Amino acid sequence: MSRRIEKAIKLATEAHEGQTRKSGEAYISHPLAVMKILEDWGMDEDTVIAGVLHDTIEDTDMTLEQIKSEFGEPVAFLVDGVTKLSDARSGMRDLDTYLPQTKDNLLRLLIALGSDIRVLIIKLADRLHNMRTLSALPPDKQKKIAKETLEVFAPLADRLNMGRLRVELADIAFSYVDPKRYTELQKILEKRNRAAEKSIQKTKKDVANLLKREKIQYEMDGRVKSIYSLHKKLMKYDQNIDAIYDLLAIRIIVNDITTCYLVLGLIHSLYTPMDGRVKDYIAMPKQNGYQSLHTTVITPDKRIIEFQIRTKEMHDYAEHGLAASFWYNEQKLTENYRTGKIQHLPTHLLWITELQQTAAHLREGKKVDLKKLKLNLFADKIFVYTPKGDIIDLPVGALPLDFAYRLHSEIGGHVMGVKVNGKMVSLNTRLKHGDVVEILTSKKQTANMSWFDKIFTAHARQKLRQQLNSGK
Ligand code: MN
Repeated sequence: MSRRIEKAIKLATEAHEGQTRKSGEAYISHPLAVMKILEDWGMDEDTVIAGVLHDTIEDTDMTLEQIKSEFGEPVAFLVDGVTKLSDARSGMRDLDTYLPQTKDNLLRLLIALGSDIRVLIIKLADRLHNMRTLSALPPDKQKKIAKETLEVFAPLADRLNMGRLRVELADIAFSYVDPKRYTELQKILEKRNRAAEKSIQKTKKDVANLLKREKIQYEMDGRVKSIYSLHKKLMKYDQNIDAIYDLLAIRIIVNDITTCYLVLGLIHSLYTPMDGRVKDYIAMPKQNGYQSLHTTVITPDKRIIEFQIRTKEMHDYAEHGLAASFWYNEQKLTENYRTGKIQHLPTHLLWITELQQTAAHLREGKKVDLKKLKLNLFADKIFVYTPKGDIIDLPVGALPLDFAYRLHSEIGGHVMGVKVNGKMVSLNTRLKHGDVVEILTSKKQTANMSWFDKIFTAHARQKLRQQLNSGK
């Protein structure tokens, strides 16, 4: 453990001295648990320290100036951000001054927190530990906090593709919001799993044998279905559990993208895939950046099983989302909108940049079209047009080269320029819903390395890589 973290623990312990949680434990157990969660997520040192200190401003005599002089401006900024939102009422008051127009809590919270994404991550770690220890609170508080978690924090974890966190938050919260239903569904799931146990084992063995025969390195495990997501699906399908095809799922993790597709083909050679249930989230990632191949198959003994095939990196990202991308990109996310610098985020998280800009505009009193923002934040896809009027759908965040490679790799490989709605624009221009996109090509222009920075979809990236490798 670093000296700075040790110092933070010492100061926080002294500051919270004598305070206890509702459970009777010393208060410091909470910030320390939050710290541990942030460390597990692989967050940077400043964020971990801010996690240790996150309740000191509100609950102790410690001041922001003290934190600033001991640990520096970035840590103080993070603690300040978390403090502003720790009290739900004052947090919401704060939101009201910026956003009187909307009652959408998730949107409001996102915008208020948009200044430094790490504030959001600390807030999520804080909420996770509070949910894990919710039983110590009186029932009326339990319900209120659980509801807020379902409405705001679990969807937020989903937006950040923090899959493991989303499942834990939602399932704990649901067990408090509707304990009877929770237990019922838990029993139903257990029963189903028991009944299918043999079939799952046999399927795993058959697939394992095939993969070994093909000399493919892999890891395989089952995935546990979240009770809350089962509840939501049952509501959608009139409580008909037979309409839900992903109750049983097997996950296969391999070394690279090519192998993902190979494994998909192999599975289809063993089992009959269900019509319309093959989903390529590698070429077309979900908006939160989730990537995987999904296919639902019918086994010889008539069980329906979903396979999820992905690389190790995709898997880490699906489990830990934004936190994992810190890890992979080693990004230093210290700047905030106040310094006028925009954070450098991976392209699938560009919506965060958009959020930061919106937050800045709101604080400056500029007008913001929230409807449009909401559309951009929550829609999975945009539809754009070729000059002839053909519709091309792309994930939100797509750039002209994604469009070009989608039309044809020959077109993608010779892009000279692009017109959007009749005007020349740069290759960094994000395409918007309804844009008419015209690609100008030249035989002399060929693909080059710098294009990797101007691409959003995995599909285009793959095509570009192929072209560069083949030297065309
Ligand atoms: Mn806290």
